[in-house]
Amino acid sequence: MISTARSVTSRAMTDDPTAEVAARYTVQTTPFLERLMEGGGPDDALVRQFRPSLAELVTAPDDLADPIGDDARSPLPGLVHRYPDRVLLLPIKVCAAYCRFCFRRAVVGRGAQPLSPDETAAALDYIRARPAIWEVILSGGDPLLLSPRRLRELVAALADIPHVETLRVHTRLPIHDPDRVTTELAEAIASTRLAPWLAVHVNHAREFAPEVVAALGRLRRAGVSLVSQSVLLRGVNDDVDTLEALFRACVRHGVKPYYLHHPDRAEGTSHFRLSIDEGRALVAALNARLSGLARPTYVLDRPGGLGKVPLGPYAAQPYADQ
Ligand SMILES: *Cc1c(COP(=O)(O)O)cnc(C)c1O
Ligand code: SF4
Repeated sequence: MISTARSVTSRAMTDDPTAEVAARYTVQTTPFLERLMEGGGPDDALVRQFRPSLAELVTAPDDLADPIGDDARSPLPGLVHRYPDRVLLLPIKVCAAYCRFCFRRAVVGRGAQPLSPDETAAALDYIRARPAIWEVILSGGDPLLLSPRRLRELVAALADIPHVETLRVHTRLPIHDPDRVTTELAEAIASTRLAPWLAVHVNHAREFAPEVVAALGRLRRAGVSLVSQSVLLRGVNDDVDTLEALFRACVRHGVKPYYLHHPDRAEGTSHFRLSIDEGRALVAALNARLSGLARPTYVLDRPGGLGKVPLGPYAAQPYADQ
């Protein structure tokens, strides 16, 4: 776990304010993201997501080291089992770039060790022993940073477990470094009898650069079904026009909007947060504009491992005459 004891007072001692952030959390982008951020000021939606800010050194009273309670639901290293029919398998805890609002920032970062072969075997045994597990969700870190060969081996091992029917990959690699999402990697996801699904984490319509669209095309051509996950973030996408453009872009590129996550209370991310009431008002306005095809479910992953709940908004009066 990351210590929260460091104070912001020492920042006057360094000329580079981001050095202190980098001492606490991994700071890394990719040449592709650098190009997208070129010329962007501090309020740019991509700069906000990927350039470190001194605000990350502030620990707010409601920050949590383990914001969604993964620890409470982790039966073995690399597994989080919160719902009977599906399990998260985290083979790797590194990403190609690091989102400044990352909900797993206390455990994800440069130098984090991947699951060892023994730990992977134990995780597979756990899944094999539980016939209720219908779906395995690869998450991380970014599971697409596994080599195509290792990914293919892992998927094949999962496909050998008769009761597992569905594979889902949670990734941001198509956004961080689209050229790394090769046909070979896409085919590794779709190489077995498992129904291949991929949830791409995308937060702004500008992230759909031509290279990203091409990467999504390679996944679709390999037979992978695509959904999106987005995080509602102050200063990135917290207005109706921006969200509308994002979800219309998802549909245009063959990605069904799945979840819009209320921001998690990860340490040093309070500058990205908005209230649930603000989120509900945005989503109500959005739903009034958007086709159902373009509408994600607005959800909160509750602290303490309690799991996700939809936040609405709900129609207060189902019948007009009542
Ligand atoms: C979010 C999550 C899932 C996936 O939930 P869905 O509602 O099926 O997308 C599964 N397991 C864990 C531990 C999760 O945090
Ligand atoms: S891609 Fe996901 S796990 Fe990686 S830094 Fe971003 S939010 Fe965290």
